[in-house]
Amino acid sequence: MRALARGALALAVAACADDAPGDGPDAAATCRAPTAAPAWLDGYLATTIAKLSGAADVAPGVRLADRATVARRAAAQRFALDELAAAGLPAALDDYGTGANVTAELPATAAAPGPLVLVGAHLDSVAGSPGADDNASGAAAVLATARMLTEVACRDRPVRFVLFDQEEVGLIGSTYLASALRQAGTAVAAVHTVDQIGWDGDGDRRLEIEQPTAARLAEYQAAATTLGLAVTATASGRTDHVAFREAGFDAVGVSEEFTGGDATPHYHAATDTAATLDLPFVALGARLVALVIAREVGAP
Ligand SMILES: [Zn+2]
Repeated sequence: MRALARGALALAVAACADDAPGDGPDAAATCRAPTAAPAWLDGYLATTIAKLSGAADVAPGVRLADRATVARRAAAQRFALDELAAAGLPAALDDYGTGANVTAELPATAAAPGPLVLVGAHLDSVAGSPGADDNASGAAAVLATARMLTEVACRDRPVRFVLFDQEEVGLIGSTYLASALRQAGTAVAAVHTVDQIGWDGDGDRRLEIEQPTAARLAEYQAAATTLGLAVTATASGRTDHVAFREAGFDAVGVSEEFTGGDATPHYHAATDTAATLDLPFVALGARLVALVIAREVGAP
């Protein structure tokens, strides 16, 4: 599947390079935003969350009681690097001293690419908590989004996927990257961060969109309508998107109903395990993010 996917992608990209997006039926046929659930998604999310939250080995003989220590954060980072590489994305560890972000970039296919779209989630957890909801759910959604976007053959903008380190101890990984992008003068269209999307106690299939600009909110509302989800805009600012907004970027967060009173009761607890998660809700959240990102890079 992975080998085939890469071959198919190369063919599709070659087809697009010759015919600019929108030119000719073939190009349009391969340039589609992912509105249908990929067959691999549910299994991939379940396995990824289990490995990151200690319900399964993340590497032979290695099980993560939490993702708070240096060694356990490094094991989770190696896992994420391998997952991105398996999706055909060259991934790297961006070491900033006290920690490291995992990062991979999917290039644009357009001759004159537009500004960067960044999507990320923190990979660390608090000590003593397996962090299935906080934040293996968000990390798995970003890894799945990376895979879904590799299947979108026409992209006007590059997409960077980032697993942030040290969110739980002060947004350190995201703050480092936000200032690095600012200092480099990188043109960034939007930043999306995902944190805790695994709980829907009241079953209303509602997600919160944190501090969105009007343009971002409209994108999430449109995608939510396509997927049968509901979204609510909130002023919540407790996770990585805050670091990017403070650096002057258009940033938005996606989470379960933190403000709306339907967030996991296992927050930062030893009981935040994979067994407590609503996996179909995680899958809807991952699809929401992937659909928004795909449309943001120009896929109809
Ligand atoms: Zn979190």
